[in-house]
Amino acid sequence: MSNAAKFTPEAGEFGLEVQADAAAGQVRFTVWDRGIGIAPEDLPRLFQPFVQLDGGLARQYAGSGLGLALVKRLADLHGGGISVESAPGQGSRFTLTLPWSEPAPAPEPAAGLPAAPAPARRGLLGAGRLALLVEDNETNISVFTDFLRVAGFQVAVARDGVEALDLAPQLAPAVILMDIQLPRLNGLEVIRQLRRLAVPAPILALTALAMPGDQERCLAAGANAYLSKPVSLGGLQACLEALLQGASPEGLEAR
Ligand code: MN
Repeated sequence: MSNAAKFTPEAGEFGLEVQADAAAGQVRFTVWDRGIGIAPEDLPRLFQPFVQLDGGLARQYAGSGLGLALVKRLADLHGGGISVESAPGQGSRFTLTLPWSEPAPAPEPAAGLPAAPAPARRGLLGAGRLALLVEDNETNISVFTDFLRVAGFQVAVARDGVEALDLAPQLAPAVILMDIQLPRLNGLEVIRQLRRLAVPAPILALTALAMPGDQERCLAAGANAYLSKPVSLGGLQACLEALLQGASPEGLEAR
């Protein structure tokens, strides 16, 4: 869609068509535009990395030339694909195809029988409790926040050590996820001070560029558990479960 917008002149038109095809087991997303179009000789190069066609409007916009190559790779990895039809001066149609099947209708419970129990909700772990995420990297904030919300937590974010010291006693979170490399006050010092302030929440320390002895340093400072980044979301889930049940998450650290 952003490519279609980019290559469509002011007051032009573009759109998205979505077509589910149960017989073919596919869903097709077609992005169409009435923009500048693509010359036939350029079409074969379109999905190669770092290719930017030198056509009119394209020069006004910076880009890596990776977008379509990435879309193609991702679509292929999902068992789908991408194709294009285009005519210079008339516009283009890019069609992304992905495997799809019609969802089976939920069976009606038979009269007189109790309905089957609902599948366990992922929201169960957090159960609406508050997690305080102490993290300065915006990408990590976004990933961890999404994970925690899906797991049923409310999420508060502190972006540096001083903010964490300010927020943790006020908010009384059920659990604290603590990055160690932080602006203003590093995570180890924050953990020590939180323990001095008798903040009762379990603290899960998360470090990037893990060094030997990091785990010991974090636990000695007062953390209850330690994971090194990149963190697997399965490992994080298991660790949070153990922490919230009051169990020692030892043995989970290496995951
Ligand atoms: Mn950091």
